[in-house]
Order: sequence, then C-alpha cells, then structure tokens
Amino acid sequence: MKKIGFTTSVPVEIIFSAKFKPVDLNNIFVSNNNPLQLVDNAENIGFPRNICTWIKGIYSALSYVEDLHSIIGVVEGDCSNTRALIEVLKLKDIECFSFSYPNSKNYDFLKNEIINLCSFLGVSLSEIINVKRNLDVIRKKLAYLDELTWKSNKVTGWENHLWQVSSSDFNGDYNLFEEKLDDMISTIEKRDEFKQKFRIGYIGVPPIMCDLYDFIETLNARVVYNEVQRQFTMADSIGMDDIVETYRQFTYPYDLHGRLKDIKEQIKKREIDLVVHYTQAFCFRGIEDIIIRKELGVPVLTIEGDRPGNLDSRTKLRIESFIDMFS
Ligand code: SF4
Repeated sequence: MKKIGFTTSVPVEIIFSAKFKPVDLNNIFVSNNNPLQLVDNAENIGFPRNICTWIKGIYSALSYVEDLHSIIGVVEGDCSNTRALIEVLKLKDIECFSFSYPNSKNYDFLKNEIINLCSFLGVSLSEIINVKRNLDVIRKKLAYLDELTWKSNKVTGWENHLWQVSSSDFNGDYNLFEEKLDDMISTIEKRDEFKQKFRIGYIGVPPIMCDLYDFIETLNARVVYNEVQRQFTMADSIGMDDIVETYRQFTYPYDLHGRLKDIKEQIKKREIDLVVHYTQAFCFRGIEDIIIRKELGVPVLTIEGDRPGNLDSRTKLRIESFIDMFS
C-alpha cells in the first residue's frame, strides 16, 4: 500500500477511502531513535537555525518513509512555513498537494478544499462516509480513554497524549489501532485511581520534549487535558456524517476565539487547577500567549521548547516553582 505523508491533521477519511496509508510526518520525526540528528540533517542542507524544529524534522522524516505516493501540506490554518517546505520537496520531485483550512471557516470554501483532495486521491465525497463511520467507532473509544483520564483518574498524561495524538493517522491502520486501543482500555480499567492533588491542563501544539508528562507527575500533579491532541480525535463530531462540518468543528486550524471557547469549557468540566501553555520556539502561535493568559481565568505557565529531547533544568525549575506556589 502506498503512503501519503502529511504535515498536520487532514481529513484522514479521504486517504483511507482511497486505499492509501496515512502517515503523520510529525509522528515519524518524534518517534525516530535520534530525532536530533534529523534536525541537524535539515540544517546541513540549509534550513535556517531560527525556523521551527518541527518543519526540519518533517523534512528529514520523509527519508524514513518507504513507498511514498505524495505529501499533503497544510498551507493555510496550520503553518506558513509549510509553503516553503513544499517548495523544497518539489525540488526533490516529491508530489505535493496543498490543502487549506480557510481562515473564514466558510463551509463552501472548506468543502471545495475537501473535494479537491478527494479528486487528487481519486475518491468521491460520498464514498468517504463509510470510513468516517468506522473511524467514529474508534474515536468514541478514544473519547472514553479521555474520560478515564479526567473522570476516573486512571490514565497518565503521557498515555492520554499519545493515544489522542496518534489519531491523526491511526498509525496507518485503523483496525490494528482499534485492537491495541481495546487492549489498552481493558488494562487501564483494572487500575486503581491516581491520587495527585493538582489537575493540569496542557494547551498548545504537542510538546517536542518527551518527559514533560512524567516530570509533572513527580510533582503531585497530572495532566488531565490535552487540548490539541483531543482536537485531533474529532471528539466533538462523532456520529456526524457531514465531513465538511466535522473539519469545521476542528478548532486547531482556525482562530484563537474557537480554541479559547473549547479550552474554557474543558477547564470547567474537568475541574482543572492550573494550565501549562506550550509554545514552540520560532512559532507564530507564541504570540497568542498574550491573549491566552488574559482570557483563561486560571493560572497559566508558559513554557517553550525548541529541540527534541528531555526538559532542560530551567524549564523543570519553572514548572516546579509554578506548582509549588499553589501547594
Ligand atoms: S509549531 Fe508552529 S511554526 Fe512549528 S510547524 Fe507547528 S505551527 Fe508551524
């Protein structure tokens, strides 16, 4: 089966319907044995040091994807750096399709983008509904795993992150993904409740460092909400047959207003005490921190990551002091 790589969550139903294997290139990058080397490789061919590391990682991750058919680059709604990335990939004779989430959230504009992607992959809009229904069964199980995190207190922050973030491509095989998820859920259900005092909300793009969740759990606290990762599961559109509306409800690619509404609802529902806002070095989304801190109404700690690896000692100290202030 040929693979379709993509730069951020896209309507994955279309890729599965067209009988391709979806590959979220971000996941290939961070799960590599040596992700730092991937960043170095991109810088060695000329990617600037002061450009977001995810873009460089995505570029280099491509060399680990066999049987690649093409790339879907999200050029509006995610990251303007992707435009330049696509230009570079075209130089390497990689076929690239540009997909946009229209800033206006206009239904017809988005429908047009989805129809164009369907044509590119050779499927019709009506064909993808069956796959959407299959995926929704799995998404429902992911929503249950999320509930086991914040309601039953039986899931670690890292597990919650990993399962939800993986729903962007269902690891390329949604049947296998569902089997593994079923096993995970039955293991989790048998656990005792975690008893940490502080309930933490994590907002912003997924972290590039791998030990953030574990570190927080050493401080009598646990992440019970992962904002963007939950959005990747399309949890708010389960059971909806309208694929266009589903991807209109997805808050991540649109304005901050929609994200803030979602975050505030989740903070209230999950009784979150403190929020960690993650920003990626050199990312435009860092500017949004000004509004987030003003609007949320709960204490917010903003941390920044750059290269993959573990938390640096300064960030550890900041997280420790932040939680300590409320002990
Ligand atoms: S973290 Fe920001 S700059 Fe980096 S790829 Fe994502 S949106 Fe673009």
